[in-house]
Amino acid sequence: MYKISLITGDGIGPELSESVTDMLHAINDKIGLKLEINTVEAGDGALKKTGKALPDSTFDTIKKSDACLKAPVGESAADVIVFLRRALDLYANIRPAKSYPNMPSLKENIDLVIVRENTEDLYTGMEFEVGNSAVALRTISEYASKRIAKYACIIAGQRNRQRKVTCVHKSNVMRKTDGLFARSCTQVANDFPDITFEQMYVDACAMNLIRQPESFDVIVTTNLFGDILSDEAAQVVGGLGMAPAANIGDNFALFEPVHGAAFDIAGKQVANPSSFILSAKMMFEWLGMKNNDSTSFEVAKKIEEAVYCVVSKGIKTKDIGGDKTTQEFTQQVISKLI
Ligand code: ATP
Repeated sequence: MYKISLITGDGIGPELSESVTDMLHAINDKIGLKLEINTVEAGDGALKKTGKALPDSTFDTIKKSDACLKAPVGESAADVIVFLRRALDLYANIRPAKSYPNMPSLKENIDLVIVRENTEDLYTGMEFEVGNSAVALRTISEYASKRIAKYACIIAGQRNRQRKVTCVHKSNVMRKTDGLFARSCTQVANDFPDITFEQMYVDACAMNLIRQPESFDVIVTTNLFGDILSDEAAQVVGGLGMAPAANIGDNFALFEPVHGAAFDIAGKQVANPSSFILSAKMMFEWLGMKNNDSTSFEVAKKIEEAVYCVVSKGIKTKDIGGDKTTQEFTQQVISKLI
C-alpha cells in the first residue's frame, strides 16, 4: 500500500486534483494497487486561511507519505514548491517533452527530457537591496552539478532513450558559475563512455528547441535555464496542458505539472488534466523503481497508453484543439485505463 499526499493547490489546481483523485480511486478499486490518498492544503488559499502557505500539518503529512502529488499553486509558489524542493532535497527536476498524436506539435517524433538542477542557482532566494540597486546571488556547487549530471547520464542510458546528454549553460559569460557546472558535467560524463555528451549555450539551445527539437535526448542544465527551457519544450510538443514533471531526491519524490495555477481559466472546466495525470504516471514509475514493484510500473504504462489512446481519437480539451471539459476528458482516460 502506498500513502500518497495530494496538494490540491490554487487556480486550476482543484480541478486537476479532482481528475487525478478520480483516476487514483479507479486504480485503487479496479487495478488492485492499494493507495491511501491524503489530501492537503498549500498555496494562496492555505495562506489566507491559516497564515502559512505551507501549514505544518501539510508538511508533516507529506513527510509521512511515500510520494507527493502537487497541483499548481499561485503567488505563494516560492513558499511551497521552492521550499519543498530544498527542504526534502529533491535535487532532480525531470521534465519530459514528448509528442503525442493529434497535437499542435511543431514536429513529430519529439521525445526529450530536461533534467534541471533543482536546489541552487538564482532560486535560493539570496537577494538584497543595495541603495537603488538589487543584487541576486547565484550559487553553483561542484557537488550539486555532479549529482545532477550523474542523474542525467543514468536517464540517458535507460532502455527507451538515445544515450545522448546535452549540457546547457552560458559559460562564455558566467565563467565561474557556469564554468564550474560545465566542467563538473564533463567530468561525470567521462564515467559514462556509452553516452554521447555535448555542450550547448543556453541561447543556442532555446533556438534549437524550435529548429530541431527531435535532435535532443536528455538536456541537463541549471535551475533557472531549466525552468525557462522546459516551458518552451512543453509548447513545442503542444502546450503546457500536456507537460508533467517530477522532483526527485534520494529518498522522496514530488510530482507536479510544469505549469502554474493558470488563474485565467480556473473554475471553467477547460483545463487539460493531462499534465497532472502524466505527473501521476511518473510517480508510479518512480514508486515502481524504488520498490521494485512491477504492478506500479504496469499502472504507469497503462496511464500513458490511456492518454495516448484518448488523444489519438481526437478526444481533447480546448488548449490542444478539442472541446471536452476537464472531467469529460478525465473520464475518457479512466475508461481506457481499466
Ligand atoms: P507560473 O509562473 O506559476 O508557472 P504562468 O504565469 O507562467 O505561471 P501558467 O499558469 O503556467 O502561467 O500558464 C500559462 C497559460 O497556459 C495559462 O494562462 C493557461 O492559459 C495555459 N495553461 C496552463 N496550464 C494549462 C492546462 N493544464 N490546461 C490548459 N491551459 C493551460
